[in-house]
Amino acid sequence: MNSLLTLAAERAAHYLATLDARGVAPSPDDIARLAALGGSLPDGPTEPEAVIAQLDDIGSPATVGTAGQRFFGFVIGGSLPVTVAANWLATAWDQNVGLWAASPTGSALEEIALGWLVDALKLPPGTGGAFVTGATVANFTALAAARHAVLARQGWDVGADGLFGAPEITVVVGDEAHPSLLKSLGLLGLGKKRVVRVPTDDQGRMRADALPALSGPAIVCVQAGNVNTGAFDPAGAIIPWAHDAGAWVHVDGAFGLWAAVAPDRAHLVADFADADSWATDAHKWLNVPYDSGLAFVRDPDILRAAMIMSADYLPKTERREPSEYTPELSRRARGVEIWAAIKTLGRAGLSDLVERTCRQAQRFADGLSAAGYPILNDVVLNQVLVSFGDQDAVQRVVRGIQSDGTCWCGGTVWQGHPAMRISVSSWATTDEDVERSLDAILRVAAREGATTARPV
Ligand SMILES: *Cc1c(COP(=O)(O)O)cnc(C)c1O
Repeated sequence: MNSLLTLAAERAAHYLATLDARGVAPSPDDIARLAALGGSLPDGPTEPEAVIAQLDDIGSPATVGTAGQRFFGFVIGGSLPVTVAANWLATAWDQNVGLWAASPTGSALEEIALGWLVDALKLPPGTGGAFVTGATVANFTALAAARHAVLARQGWDVGADGLFGAPEITVVVGDEAHPSLLKSLGLLGLGKKRVVRVPTDDQGRMRADALPALSGPAIVCVQAGNVNTGAFDPAGAIIPWAHDAGAWVHVDGAFGLWAAVAPDRAHLVADFADADSWATDAHKWLNVPYDSGLAFVRDPDILRAAMIMSADYLPKTERREPSEYTPELSRRARGVEIWAAIKTLGRAGLSDLVERTCRQAQRFADGLSAAGYPILNDVVLNQVLVSFGDQDAVQRVVRGIQSDGTCWCGGTVWQGHPAMRISVSSWATTDEDVERSLDAILRVAAREGATTARPV
């Protein structure tokens, strides 16, 4: 075991140390070599050292450099060094954090991390939470609590009796709701299509002047941080309106909720604290390893009522039982890395991480704009949308940047306009990385004949 772990650690350290010197995207040849990991099911054993060596020799070159300094696609952070190390230790522990009895350490770390998260994200004291795989399942978990609560108020037990014959629930979402929120609604039997969609403005914010009339059980979903623009729904207008109608308010804040940790950005998210539930990611802006998401519910008893199960073989303790708050029973101890990240950063480090990446996004916007390329969004957070002309031009630039290898950005279509997306989410990105990447983008854009006309 000892030599094997040392081998893995040495190879992992070498991988990280050499990441900066290679292209962010793997080469087609490196991807083609992955076939060598296949073949028919081996008849006999292979030495573990040889297995790790093959994983590294063939697997590492075909990774995307998302752990590095210049990956700006989707919204993908890296992993803070301490969280990689904590993850290794926790993997060696092999704790099942479904039950306190099976992992006092894992359970306690989740409780402590939950308290710190509620504090850092400025959620109401006493808010309950679940450590899940990502924002999709966090949305699912929080919305399951919402579904439970709005039907319980009608005297209906959805867990026991299901949705057939239940009072109808009105679900309100913004036109720019993330597809994973709609997926969660579909999984919960609330339907992706039967939602009431509220029109949005040019930044993707729900229009508070276009809210529907509400009656009966209702769930209103608002967004903190649009995946394209970074914009926030006007929660200050929507939440009081929803609560007046007796509705539950859920926030999809996969990355936007983290604005709360930076004093200069906290105003963006302040009004969202009045909601009833929140979903966010830890694997995006907190920069912990995949997979790690968080569901928060103001009233922990409601989350527990929606998630609890019991079996005679499962011990009951006086402690918080983690699995009473999550969809899963058996589960890895995700609180370990979150605890390590917050312990290492502290309030100041959290604030610096969010503020720095927002400032770097603004630098990208300023640099591109100075070269004449239109920025399609108000850069309020860490997201930038830049136009290089028509669909063909944007595609040429995006492909050109990805194969150039200096950095990695993806494409999108924003309200009918093709654009390139830049998301600055990694702890590892330096100001120098931003300048190098900006130079590369401008070089490729000029080479590919990008145009500077503002799309109409
Ligand atoms: C990324 C994202 C999600 C989905 O998160 P996963 O961690 O990929 O499941 C949901 N909503 C928003 C706004 C996002 O940015």
